[in-house]
Formats: sequence, C-alpha cells, structure tokens
Amino acid sequence: MARPSRGRVRAMNLDEITSGLAKTELLYLKQMELAKAEAKVVKVVPEKRTQAYLLLDKTIFHPKGGGQPSDRGKMASDQFALEIKKAIFHRGVVVHWGKIVTGTPSTGHVSCELDWSYRYLVMRRHTAAHLLDHCLAKTTFARVETTDSWLDEPCYVGYRGKPPNPHDIRQVDDVANEMINEGGQVRIEFLKPGEGKAVLENAPNFERLPDLDEVRIVTIEGCEPIPCGGTHVANIKEIGKLSNLRAEEMPEGTFRLHFSVGD
Ligand SMILES: [Zn+2]
Repeated sequence: MARPSRGRVRAMNLDEITSGLAKTELLYLKQMELAKAEAKVVKVVPEKRTQAYLLLDKTIFHPKGGGQPSDRGKMASDQFALEIKKAIFHRGVVVHWGKIVTGTPSTGHVSCELDWSYRYLVMRRHTAAHLLDHCLAKTTFARVETTDSWLDEPCYVGYRGKPPNPHDIRQVDDVANEMINEGGQVRIEFLKPGEGKAVLENAPNFERLPDLDEVRIVTIEGCEPIPCGGTHVANIKEIGKLSNLRAEEMPEGTFRLHFSVGD
C-alpha cells in the first residue's frame, strides 16, 4: 500500500482535530486592531508532551492564507501558558498550534495576545500590496491580475503579464508614495454572496477568491474595492515609505513586484 504523503497525513489530522466543532468566530475580520482578547478554549489536542493544538470559540489570530503569514503570540490562563507558533484555517475552524511554556492546556477561559510588532508589519505590507495593484494599473493603463503574494520574506505580489519596465516601476513607486503621504482611509464592509459580483469584477484577485459565506470588501480611498479576508491598517499613512520596489520575471508569463515598507 502506498504510504500517504506528509501533506495527506496533516490534512487527516486536521479533519480529526476540527471534527464536530462549530466555526471559529474570526475577530480579526472586524477588529484588525485587536492585539489582545479573551476567549474560551473549546478543545485541546496534545502533541508530544511539549506541544498542543488549541481550538477557541473566537480568535484574534489570523491563520496563514491569502499570502498572509500566520500570526503568532501567546495564550495563558491560571493553569497554563503557551507560545503560539502558528494558526491554521481548516473548514471554518482556526487551529492554533503552540509550545507549552508552563502547565497543561485545558478547556475554559484563556487570554490571547498577538506578537503585535510582527502583525502590524504584515498589516502594513498587506495594505501596501493592494496599493501596488492600484498604482500598477494606473501606470500601465491595464487591468492587473494577481497570481499570488507573500508578505513575510521575500515580500512580493505576483502578477500575470510582462514585468513593467524601469520607468514604469519608478512611476508606480512615485504614485504609491504620493498616495501614502496624502493618506487615505481603508474601509471594510461585508456583502452577502451574490451581492458583490458587479462591484468586484475588476478586482485583481477576482479569480482567486475563496468560497466565503460572506464577502468582505476592503476599499482604500481612491482605489477599486477588493474582496479580501486579510488584515489592513486603518489609513494608508501607516504604511510608511514604500521602497526597494523591483520587478522579477517569473515562469509562465508572470512576474513579481518585490517591496519593503517602513519609515
Ligand atoms: Zn487585503
């Protein structure tokens, strides 16, 4: 009999771990600024003696997905403390995996805290990625289509098409930094499935949208609305200076725009 791949073993485990549980309430969808929250542990699955999977009724931990790396942080109660290393989204449930620092994890009340400096960096990068979509379209007078993105290291957005020439890259850089300097609100709203299609058909990630019960729309002032479940800053001023913008040609007629954010 063929041995299952590691990926399949993992998927099976996640099926077991999340079996019978209600969907996790995703606090980060509406309150991205929450660095701390109280929650209830509804299930604990120990792994070895020093690690465990914790499942909560609600969470501030954004799981890896949509180009956004997993949040990390801490969870603690009177009985235990854990260093949370990653959050995984599986069938509507967020599975938190961590290393036990003290005690034995158990169900009941828990205090959660994100590694906020990392999350805030990801929020700034994520918002900058949307701004790049807009500025690229504006500079090249073309509809842009994203292929993927990654907001850890390396930090980039992938697009279909030929890489922009150096002149266009400078133009994108200028337009993006002008917009950041001026500032602009980042608005979040929720649409029911079917309501969003007309609003969203120009979105650069339209072909890659996950199957969500409720579509979350993110609109940067002056830009096209975009469906997205990630975490963003409230105003693009918070991105800081966008720098180190460069294009990298990739296989199959695609390219990446690499960038940094900071002051
Ligand atoms: Zn987003």
